[in-house]
Amino acid sequence: MIRESDMLLSEAQESTVVPAGDYLLKKIKRGQTVRITDLEGNQAADTLFYNANNTAERYSAMDTIREQGNVYLSAGTLLRSNFGNPLLEITADTCGRHDTLGGACATESNTVRYDLNKRCMHACRDSWMLAIGEHESVGISKRDITHNINFFMNVPVTAEGGLTFEDGISAPGKYVEMVAHMDVYMLVSNCPQLNNPCNGYNPTPIEITLW
Ligand SMILES: [Zn+2]
Repeated sequence: MIRESDMLLSEAQESTVVPAGDYLLKKIKRGQTVRITDLEGNQAADTLFYNANNTAERYSAMDTIREQGNVYLSAGTLLRSNFGNPLLEITADTCGRHDTLGGACATESNTVRYDLNKRCMHACRDSWMLAIGEHESVGISKRDITHNINFFMNVPVTAEGGLTFEDGISAPGKYVEMVAHMDVYMLVSNCPQLNNPCNGYNPTPIEITLW
């Protein structure tokens, strides 16, 4: 569902551009709003969320999907944890659909999906591993990296129940905005994938804005 934001950029507290292939780990306090902007269009932002006070509680695709009765994420979606609690709520969305079924890219999946010689290519899982290694005090470990959200990524479910990675439906300047229902850590990998059309074969920067 397309819903424009009421937030004013002039009132934002901070804004960070994340280049393609880079990551951002950010604490978002309860009541704060965060926006992810697809600056050049057709980019995927592979994202994990954790309860900042207990990182064993983290984003759960299955709890989110089951409770809302829909496989796509958009305005109105409550992003739920593995304990069933709302972590954040999508309050605005000008793209209209975000994936949480396709999973993040990894060197292993690149090898299985595309070719053995893709193993050395940079993948989102590498960026997350680097993030948790560089921020040990946050308390997220390898086993906490599980299912994720692919903001702006188009993974439609076919009438037969199939899952396909399709060309993006996002465009330059489209954004998704969320309000935090508890203190959370947001870990975004700006996807470096070059083998499927999720980034239009040309990974580009995103911007993270906080109010
Ligand atoms: Zn990726």
